Amino acid sequence: MNFPNQDRYDYIVVGAGTAGCVLAARLCEDPATRVCLIEAGGWDRHPFIHVPALVGAAIARASLNWRFMTEPQAALDNRCIPLPRGRVVGGSGSINGMVYFRGQPQDYDDWAAAGNPGWSWREVLPYFLRSEDNPECRGSPYHGQGGPIRVAHIPTPNPLNRVFLEAFAQVGGYGPCEDFTGPRPEGYGLRQGTIRAGRRDSSATAYLRPAKTRPNLTVLTDARVARVLIENGRALGVEAIVGGGRRRLLAGRETVLCAGAIQSPQILMLSGVGPPEELRRHGIEVRLASPGVGAHYRDHLSVPVLMETSDTQSYGLSLRTLPRAALNLAQYACGRGGPLASNVFESTAFIRSGPGADRPDLQMVFQPARRNRGTFPLPLGHGFVINSVGLYPRSRGRILLASADPLAAPRVEANLLADSADMAPLLAGLKLARRLFAAPAFARYRAVEVAPGPAVRSDADLEAYVRRMAVTVHHPLSTCRMGADADAVVDAALCVRGVASLRVVDGSIFPVMIGGNTNAPIVMVAEKAADLMLGRPPPPPIPGT
Ligand SMILES: Cc1cc2nc3c(=O)[nH]c(=O)nc-3n(C[C@H](O)[C@H](O)[C@H](O)COP(=O)(O)OP(=O)(O)OC[C@H]3O[C@@H](n4cnc5c(N)ncnc54)[C@H](O)[C@@H]3O)c2cc1C
Repeated sequence: MNFPNQDRYDYIVVGAGTAGCVLAARLCEDPATRVCLIEAGGWDRHPFIHVPALVGAAIARASLNWRFMTEPQAALDNRCIPLPRGRVVGGSGSINGMVYFRGQPQDYDDWAAAGNPGWSWREVLPYFLRSEDNPECRGSPYHGQGGPIRVAHIPTPNPLNRVFLEAFAQVGGYGPCEDFTGPRPEGYGLRQGTIRAGRRDSSATAYLRPAKTRPNLTVLTDARVARVLIENGRALGVEAIVGGGRRRLLAGRETVLCAGAIQSPQILMLSGVGPPEELRRHGIEVRLASPGVGAHYRDHLSVPVLMETSDTQSYGLSLRTLPRAALNLAQYACGRGGPLASNVFESTAFIRSGPGADRPDLQMVFQPARRNRGTFPLPLGHGFVINSVGLYPRSRGRILLASADPLAAPRVEANLLADSADMAPLLAGLKLARRLFAAPAFARYRAVEVAPGPAVRSDADLEAYVRRMAVTVHHPLSTCRMGADADAVVDAALCVRGVASLRVVDGSIFPVMIGGNTNAPIVMVAEKAADLMLGRPPPPPIPGT
């Protein structure tokens, strides 16, 4: 805050989420560059954020979560599906499951083929490596050391993970995968997470915290950006609601929206950039007709097979495990070790749901714990779950405005499962999950299937179960799509087409879906955006990849 006019900066970054923290930290590396990062939530101080096993409790905290809901979903029994989004420094990366995955190499080749030069797998891999600090895979051209975010396996995974992997070997037809971020992320295996010394490593802890004391970086928290100020086709900065008043913050060079896939399109529409009929409906002056703003929404759907057992090996609390729980607390308190240092998502499989798939289109997520019930932060009782996640849904939704009030939540017409082709991988997943739980490896647990339940057998009954139970795994994407077609909102440099000095850098720019978790790819996008904005040449491809 040492500047003569503290409301003038070189860059204004809207949203201190996964992308915003990376971008702001990179932009202010040059002490002569003044950066303002604006976040609607507060600092990431709540302890639930940082203890990995309390991830469910962090999501449940109303103060940390925007708690959006979809509109009623016709194909999901008219249910409104919860859409958690982080409302705190670190954004959704401060409440996410800490799973590290990049997607399939072909996904990025598809990005490039969709008219986005510079975004092929070989071109984006160096940015993944730049962000990564992986102590386990030294010498691998697919991993980075010394980057900001710690990536590693959970040191002491629950023994049930081995049982899950053994069951995969017993059902046959699938191979093991040693490294889900290696050249071929396919098969079953233990997975890596973004946890450093038993604590969550988000882009807030890994990028922003070390940059926080730089005098050329201002972080405004509890400040809600209402709109981008656009004059004569150029973005000048933003208007924000701070402490009940309105404040203008001006950007000499660029304004960047990093508000995520639900709110970046909302802010664009509130600023007069979007589908004209939608803007007019809310009395907003059209500054740029951009039909793709809010369109092409997509997300990953998931459906579980839930098992319960009297065996106490799974994570969870019960009378019989109270002494173990006390020991686990002590382990965490003394050395940040033991089960509380785990994100609970320790093993998985990426597989093809059928012979037609050209890459893994189904993820099986194993959880060695019973489902959390109510608001209690840890699972009560014992059991395990396999969630089946369809990785390349065809259904498309859109973000619309509920009103011109910037404090109102946008409407999310998610259209989940609207395309009937999205059902097949979920059914294949449910059937495979049942085969895995029926494999000899799980026999000694004498577990009982509580959902779908033994009575649900026919495809029609399983479909009904999917419609009753499916939820998303919180990967909304593509609502300000990058590309060269008429519907594309940003170009391959992430500049908003038709408005100068304005970019979007977050999950909304994904031109097509990636087949897995989205946090690491969004960090990659922000790393590349920093190079693009600072005019730095792209890093050379990694030899041997
Ligand atoms: C519960 C949950 C679990 C997940 N688990 C995983 C996982 O295990 N692994 C994985 O890879 N991915 C996971 N994801 C997905 C991943 O975390 C997100 O895709 C990623 O964090 C999104 O990054 P982003 O930068 O696009 O948006 P966000 O991180 O959501 O950041 C947007 C930021 O903008 C702020 N903001 C919004 N509007 C305004 C405004 N008007 N003014 C000021 N600030 C504003 C928000 O408060 C937020 O801080 C999960 C997500 C959730 C929600």
